[in-house]
Amino acid sequence: MSKGPESLVRDEVRALRAYHVAPAQGMVKLDAMENPYALPPALAAQMGERLARVAVNRYPDPTAPGLKARLRKVMRIPGELEVLLGNGSDEVLQIVAMAMARPGAVALAPEPSFAMYRLSAIACGLRYEGVALRPDFSLDLPAMLRALEERRPAVTWIAYPNNPTGNLFPREAILRLVQASPGLVVVDEAYHAFSGDATLLDEVGRHPNLLLVRTVSKLGLAGLRLGLAIGARGWIAELEKLRLPYNVNALSMAAAELLLDHFDVLESQTRAIVAERARLEAALDRLAGVARFPSAANFVLARVPDAPRAFERLRQRGILVRNFHGSHPLLEHCLRLTVGTPGENDRLVEALLPAIA
Ligand code: PMP
Repeated sequence: MSKGPESLVRDEVRALRAYHVAPAQGMVKLDAMENPYALPPALAAQMGERLARVAVNRYPDPTAPGLKARLRKVMRIPGELEVLLGNGSDEVLQIVAMAMARPGAVALAPEPSFAMYRLSAIACGLRYEGVALRPDFSLDLPAMLRALEERRPAVTWIAYPNNPTGNLFPREAILRLVQASPGLVVVDEAYHAFSGDATLLDEVGRHPNLLLVRTVSKLGLAGLRLGLAIGARGWIAELEKLRLPYNVNALSMAAAELLLDHFDVLESQTRAIVAERARLEAALDRLAGVARFPSAANFVLARVPDAPRAFERLRQRGILVRNFHGSHPLLEHCLRLTVGTPGENDRLVEALLPAIA
């Protein structure tokens, strides 16, 4: 009997594929829903000064009162709710999955949705069940309700807006799921900033089994790795037990505190992205052969005649997008295009025409 990973690592882990991050050196990077704008130089310089003063010989203060206060302010988090910080919302999802992973427990999500719902569920020993969206990517509420009844999931993930489809499921439908669910429902609002303020934050305190997840990544701070869960005191107290003591590092904390004090900068970048989204959508609508789906996020999902070929042709022209063809039957020949700067979007649209020819 071998003592290597092929026999010792759990079968379900060996069957996973690691989360894919494409090499992007020198590319127009439109694959990962990043904010394409750099910090204004004066603010970046101020951040440098601030970081120089961080006592890196000390562990960070894991209660992070200054950072939490700023997150509460910019995200308008009601005082009666508590906040759990994660190393990106990825880590928050994993902490939730760990907490819910009773032997035999199920995690449920509509599909296609964010790949980490499945990955973190399996990593934590949950069984994972996907419920297909309709072909137009709307939520199949009857199928979801049936799955809740039959599978009795310990946790159900809903991305609002959804990734990679970009749409918002109806708020009432999500609330129906919360009411019908025997387990926890996590509403992941990673793309909230682009959604015209669509949120279930106001509902969190009203339901014993509703938790909200947000991140600063799409606001322009993806490199800091900072996400959060927002929930009732009891939920956050349990999740805190599974958070590694110093999961958010001191440099990220200090940078986030400073940059959230300049939230207007991030907000104006976000507004520019939303305006560019409309311009990109209009340009895509003018391209014969491209069918794009409505987006409430900082990316647009588009179906082209041959997505693997278009992806490759764009890559050859220095533009990196995300190809979803082959990842789920509903995403046949779909590319996900992150909204970039006006110049980047122009380059993308210009390159798309020959790429789909
Ligand atoms: N949730 C959703 C729906 C996402 O699309 C992403 C990023 N792709 C995340 C969470 C994770 O973001 P982060 O870890 O950067 O906060």
